Amino acid sequence: MRTPLIAGNWKMNGSTELVEAFGQAFSSAALPNSLEAAIFPPYPYLGAARAAFAESPLALGAQTLNPHPAGAHTGEVSGPMLREFGVQYALVGHSERRQLYRESDEQVHERLLAALEVDIVPVLCVGESLAERDAGHTLQVVLHQVGYVMSRLEPAQRERVIIAYEPVWAIGTGRTATPEQAQEVMAGIRAYLAEFDRGLADGLRLLYGGSMNAGNAAELLAQPDIDGGLVGGASLKVDDFLAICQSAG
Ligand code: PEP
Repeated sequence: MRTPLIAGNWKMNGSTELVEAFGQAFSSAALPNSLEAAIFPPYPYLGAARAAFAESPLALGAQTLNPHPAGAHTGEVSGPMLREFGVQYALVGHSERRQLYRESDEQVHERLLAALEVDIVPVLCVGESLAERDAGHTLQVVLHQVGYVMSRLEPAQRERVIIAYEPVWAIGTGRTATPEQAQEVMAGIRAYLAEFDRGLADGLRLLYGGSMNAGNAAELLAQPDIDGGLVGGASLKVDDFLAICQSAG
């Protein structure tokens, strides 16, 4: 039985006020028992979020991390620092980082190792562009991104990874993959993981991301290989994020 995870990626959005609003709403909200929920705010809000979420079921995530533990890397934040702030999850390889900041598979792999090093659960983001989907290369692209990282990990490390399938054409566009489209790719990822180990494939959590909202979450989350969601825009609205969490029970 895989525990569902709903992860809210605020990207470069949010405020102290929003952190407080989430803390208040989630401290008294009824959430499904077997659900993990986490907010991934920008770094400056981690301290405030840790305090505001203390009485709530919300965990904390980071949107990326530097591969090095410390040193001359101006502007960067390391795994041990995030750990000190109670961060439990970190995104690695989000498509915006791959595209806007030219993060390669190799860098994604290094960041993922840095997260594991400090017991932060890495959420490996993968997904195809619209051109790649139109050319019929979806599974090939996605399995390359998954395989590059997973094949370089020890078996015990692989088990600690979460994979988020996020078709790039569905991120922030309001255009969601249909439940069938998402399920097809995620079943493909799970089948690929079974080539490493059947137990790994059965146990690893796969999240869907790409314009998930309160209206479409239930149908997506009902798919057999979708174990949760990575939510961008809709995670900035307390009521919407709460509704998505409630539909994951
Ligand atoms: C994301 O940023 O990971 C994402 C899925 O964004 P959105 O929900 O806005 O498409």
